[in-house]
Amino acid sequence: MPAQQIDGQAIAQAIRAEVAANVARHVAAGGQRPGLAAVLVGDNPASEIYVRNKRKACEDAGIASWLHRLPATAAQQDLLDLIGQLNRDPGVSGILVQLPLPKHMDESAVIRAVNPLKDVDCFHPENVGLLTAGHPRYLPCTPFGIQQMLARTGIPTAGRRVVVVGRSNIVGKPMTLILMQKPSRSFPEAGDATVTVVHRGTVDLPGITRQADILIAAVGVPRFVTGDMVKPGAAVIDVGINSVERKTVGDVDAASVAPVAGWLSPVPRGVGPMTISMLLHNTLRAAMMG
Ligand code: NDP
Repeated sequence: MPAQQIDGQAIAQAIRAEVAANVARHVAAGGQRPGLAAVLVGDNPASEIYVRNKRKACEDAGIASWLHRLPATAAQQDLLDLIGQLNRDPGVSGILVQLPLPKHMDESAVIRAVNPLKDVDCFHPENVGLLTAGHPRYLPCTPFGIQQMLARTGIPTAGRRVVVVGRSNIVGKPMTLILMQKPSRSFPEAGDATVTVVHRGTVDLPGITRQADILIAAVGVPRFVTGDMVKPGAAVIDVGINSVERKTVGDVDAASVAPVAGWLSPVPRGVGPMTISMLLHNTLRAAMMG
């Protein structure tokens, strides 16, 4: 039987409706309307689309949003000054600096300049440290979206064998941190799974991915995961967003994986919309903490 499709778009919409209801309740109770300040440096077409989609989703959920643009030639200090201004603005609950930044800028210095309380992407080392220690302030949006996707589809993680392909700071590494940790009152989303991370340095990568009950592909290589790398019945989550001949394709070869897997998240309409929903969730959380 072919894999059941995980409807990321529908789950993401349900979360957005919940966030919108909670925003309305928060504001009705006298709370300040949550607001997200997006910062876009340069004119990367993909970044333009991501920021536009994020702002539209904010507005649909009753979250204020502002866009601050800087030219690709801006000095790093201009960006740091802008972030300082947004850090001090009490109307701004969350700050999103869209990555990647132009090559002359030091991404980690920019991330460190964001007030950790407003760091709704959860990139600041203080927030990464809290997540690592098992007491997260925020969960980073893409891995949080994947955790929600699994939970809301009814795919249990506790005691299961998870393999994450990729170890980036944005997806692979925090995904591992969320799924391997012990659930607690301050971290109910923790997965209690047995997690293995594979990457370019891994020997016999397919031999390891074939052991996964849940296989998460965050590689950035179109159709990297093929059917022969998947255990029959596994849940396969495709994080990839790659452009091939003007079409968006994932990191999973759906044609060969669907006949083997039990569950498969599509691209598009999979993890992408979930990422945006969790950004809204985090922005509301920031406003409620503020
Ligand atoms: P990175 O390029 O930062 O990391 C890719 C990881 O995959 C690295 O750890 C790398 O290994 C590993 N990798 C790459 N090629 C191979 C290979 N041939 N064999 C084994 N491992 C390999 O990517 P990101 O994590 O930022 O993104 C991954 C994908 O997810 C991309 O397609 C991106 O567009 C997408 N994405 C989607 C989001 C969404 O909302 N849906 C959000 C963020 C990203 P090594 O460390 O050894 O180099």
